[in-house]
Amino acid sequence: MFKKILIANRGEIALRIQRACREMGIKAVVVYSEADRDAKYVKLAEEAVCIGPAPSGQSYLNMPAIISAAEVTDAEAIHPGYGFLSENADFAERVEKSGFTFIGPTPESIRLMGDKVSAKQAMIRAGVPCVPGSDGALPDDPVVIKRTAKAVGYPVIIKAAGGGGGRGMRVVHTEAALLHAVQTTKAEAGAAFGNAEVYMEKFLQNPRHIEIQVLADQHRNAVYLGERDCSMQRRHQKVIEEAPAPGIPRRLIEKIGERCAAACKKIGYRGAGTFEFLFENGEFYFIEMNTRVQVEHPVTEWITGIDIVKTQIAVAAGEKLPFTQRQVQLKGHAIECRVNAEDAYKFTPSPGRITMWHPPGGPGVRVDSHAYTNYFVPSNYDSMIGKIIVHGDTREQALARMRTALAETVVEGIKTNIPLHREIMVDASFVAGGTNIHYLEEWLSQRER
Ligand code: ADP
Repeated sequence: MFKKILIANRGEIALRIQRACREMGIKAVVVYSEADRDAKYVKLAEEAVCIGPAPSGQSYLNMPAIISAAEVTDAEAIHPGYGFLSENADFAERVEKSGFTFIGPTPESIRLMGDKVSAKQAMIRAGVPCVPGSDGALPDDPVVIKRTAKAVGYPVIIKAAGGGGGRGMRVVHTEAALLHAVQTTKAEAGAAFGNAEVYMEKFLQNPRHIEIQVLADQHRNAVYLGERDCSMQRRHQKVIEEAPAPGIPRRLIEKIGERCAAACKKIGYRGAGTFEFLFENGEFYFIEMNTRVQVEHPVTEWITGIDIVKTQIAVAAGEKLPFTQRQVQLKGHAIECRVNAEDAYKFTPSPGRITMWHPPGGPGVRVDSHAYTNYFVPSNYDSMIGKIIVHGDTREQALARMRTALAETVVEGIKTNIPLHREIMVDASFVAGGTNIHYLEEWLSQRER
């Protein structure tokens, strides 16, 4: 096992990884930008290295600074967390070339899955169902583009091969709008992602977002850890996640889960990963794979009893998965609310000093957060300041616990989206379960009126 790991991230996930290291008897080195000097996990770390000023381009995305921090501290492995460099194949390659272990899949897997066109083609070969669409990237020929859209059937969505974070997508309802939409998306994709390639998919009207968590080792073992329902989204960003997904028959989950595990074996995948699907009319359609730990991993940890971060570290060190598919048993129901430093209804960021931080507690409540009373939320990064996760024997109990947890939580000095979460937890449709990916935005626009 590693003796020392460098955590190339910040915020709650840096703290989460640090906790995993501590449990495993591994020393954790953290890196931080000048804006994060006072963060709790920085103070708690065995060693901490400042890697640059606040803008992430000069700190958390600064590959040479991170690699030299690993060199000077004699770390053996680098955990990238999520976001920042976690899905950057060049970074994974540089880490390994510099003699460190990258806690994640191989650069080849990251590259394959990072390009949505090649990812989709690999999934089709592996027998994972995908959204019907163009066969690979769209060519320039307008006649072929029109023919493809006709065959797929309107509405269609034009998506950038290199897109991410909900950007680089455009829905097209009619042939008249098609060519212009393809051109615009291409131009935007070229500018934003350095890759002008786009592809076409059928635009599903009312799907749910269901994803499958996988874990794989370097000995060709791969398992799936059930599913998560992340349909509560705003601007393609997840707000609430839960596991299991309400109302989906277990046999459907098992069938798709087995396909995902088989696909991991087929592509030689290692580490943690997530297969994201749209689910409509009883069918799953693959949209993309995330080759890293996800924000919402705690809901899966809670219903399976498996520590995903510790397992990531163990398999990166070459260990075999410590459980088989059969040993993965789901228990109860878990819900996660992302706590953001923002206005609950206008969504304007609300950075600044937290004058009072009182997190909830009690049975079945977990809080993953780096915040504390007197912590200053910097304006330079994502607005998420923590996650409240609850578990119950049933979904009803989990909902009741989340309502209590949210009622107990006190955050003063900055605005948070906790009032929004409190409202959603008593909303009849959410309580009934199974809302689609448009539900939250529709609910928000109704509320405005
Ligand atoms: P990103 O990598 O930017 O997150 P995804 O491919 O995962 O992009 O898509 C993000 C979101 O966009 C999905 O969760 C869904 O809400 C919507 N979306 C993507 N593809 C389709 C599609 N074919 N039909 C309907 N909605 C889609």
